[in-house]
Amino acid sequence: MSASVQSAQTVWSDGVTHRFLTRAAEITGNHDLAVEVSEGQVEASSRCAGCGHREHTWFPREIHGRAQQHAEKCRAVPRPTV
Ligand SMILES: [Zn+2]
Repeated sequence: MSASVQSAQTVWSDGVTHRFLTRAAEITGNHDLAVEVSEGQVEASSRCAGCGHREHTWFPREIHGRAQQHAEKCRAVPRPTV
């Protein structure tokens, strides 16, 4: 099997509880472009796979709203790694 065959399968990083697909993911169909949220008991963080934007909060309930907001407008696509 070639490497391109597995591209439909998105790899979830350790600790990621939710993924919010970005605007760029909608446009390109590349579902790797997402804001990945990691939620803990007392804190939560997110990271955008498109532009690298990161957020951290001590109020885990806030993280979904923030991730959603960022994902809705982020059109960044990182340079592909070879
Ligand atoms: Zn972004």
